Amino acid sequence: MAYDPQPTASHFIDGAYVEDTSGTPIDVIFPATGEVIARVHAATPAIVEQAVAAARKAQVGWARLTGSERGRILRRAADIMRERNHDLSVLETLDTGKPLQETSVADATSGADAFEYFGAIAAGLTGSHIPLTGGDFAYTVRQPLGVCAGIGAWNYPTQIACWKGAPALACGNAMVFKPSETTPLCALKVAEILIEAGAPAGLYNVVQGLGEVGAQLATHDDIAKVSLTGSAPTGKKVYAAAAATMKHVTMELGGKSPLVVFADADIDNAVSGAILANFYSSGQICSNGTRVFVERAIRPAFVARLQERLQSVVLGDPREMETNFGPMVSERQCAIVESYIDKGVAEGATLFCGGKRLDGPGLFVPPTVFTDVTDDMTIAREEIFGPVMAVLDFDSEEEVISRANATPFGLAGGVFTQDITRAHRVIDQIDAGTCYINCYNIAPVEAPFGGVKASGVGRENSAEALNHYSQVKTVYVGMNPVEAPY
Ligand code: NDP
Repeated sequence: MAYDPQPTASHFIDGAYVEDTSGTPIDVIFPATGEVIARVHAATPAIVEQAVAAARKAQVGWARLTGSERGRILRRAADIMRERNHDLSVLETLDTGKPLQETSVADATSGADAFEYFGAIAAGLTGSHIPLTGGDFAYTVRQPLGVCAGIGAWNYPTQIACWKGAPALACGNAMVFKPSETTPLCALKVAEILIEAGAPAGLYNVVQGLGEVGAQLATHDDIAKVSLTGSAPTGKKVYAAAAATMKHVTMELGGKSPLVVFADADIDNAVSGAILANFYSSGQICSNGTRVFVERAIRPAFVARLQERLQSVVLGDPREMETNFGPMVSERQCAIVESYIDKGVAEGATLFCGGKRLDGPGLFVPPTVFTDVTDDMTIAREEIFGPVMAVLDFDSEEEVISRANATPFGLAGGVFTQDITRAHRVIDQIDAGTCYINCYNIAPVEAPFGGVKASGVGRENSAEALNHYSQVKTVYVGMNPVEAPY
């Protein structure tokens, strides 16, 4: 392998790489070949303690800086990330298997956007002045929470490390970040870059490990907030664990989002939306619109056009720039996706295309489309997190809204139609935190991102995220003699 992804050491604590080989070894596998490309060790409880202590220490001085001083460092980190986009993208590709064609424009760049945005907004973190009776007044101060823990999923390891780190640091917090054990490499680079940009040692620490390391963070007395990106079952556990010490939480969890295509939609646009909503990152995206409701009259035209467009899939080595479809991240995820495809067939859906894992090496499941899917089928109810699209027919607006909402999840939802009134009317009734009209799966830093119902609490990105990484102190000021009853 031309580029050696082996990090200097497993963890990044107090401004430097730290190793402790007594932790469980974690092999990093390149999913396109099955090659072991690096090895790290899970953090022992002592390593976690070291990271939390470093973060506590760094946070005190960091919070005393002005917002502009903090912002300058974050913006410098954004610049470094952009300069190193190629190397960071290659690492993201090796860590996840996502095509370099994608990672070059969607991962380190998105991380850089977050540092740039929150770096710029940091100087504007102010409170308010509230006039009261007789010249008394109150003012509010926006204060950091303290040390925040970030726990990441494996699909966007660089982006998740930055989406949590940037607003946390902008508000004056420090962070201990635990990447997914499947993709441990990228967050270490984020930590390195922050130091180069001038962040104090200990401000952003990375510890490796499985769920138990995340659990240690979620229950730690010195951690004020946990922000998790992961599945709904893990979210429930972490939320409950965090409640014991009354921590703030942000939960970015899974989904089973609806994408509704009305008969008057521009079919090519709708097909593009459905492709982005199901096959980008080989379908391993939380906000995917995996239940594609197509108005019955246009279903044949829709699937025919979809099939034509899928001829342009270039599946293969994700390091090649022309590849636009990569492998599943892990053997485990591949097996999960295969088992859902089997269920789809067994429960009577029509396998329209794909559906068969390719012979190795590599963990490739091609774009798979089921038609004749009904709401009760497992593939229409459960999150698959792979390249499996379920096409469902519908006849009326009222019917499709009610079916779209018949899920415990509420992360995203989309509608394709040329009727502007209908577009807004339908989206208004979709129970989801992140909605799309005539587009799908964009997540620019300027707009809030997150879910409702079982898909989570809190929002990432935009000024909204600041509310989840800071707290408001109110100060009442008496300008008159104090009136007491006796
Ligand atoms: P998991 O829920 O399995 O894991 C998420 C993270 O939590 C991992 O770092 C994991 O460690 C850790 N973890 C597991 N158990 C615990 C615990 N008891 N306490 C603390 N931490 C724990 O999710 P995946 O990594 O499999 O990611 C896929 C899921 O993430 C999908 O459901 C997807 O929808 C969701 N997701 C949501 C996004 C959003 O923004 N809404 C974005 C991306 C993904 P480890 O795995 O190393 O054991």
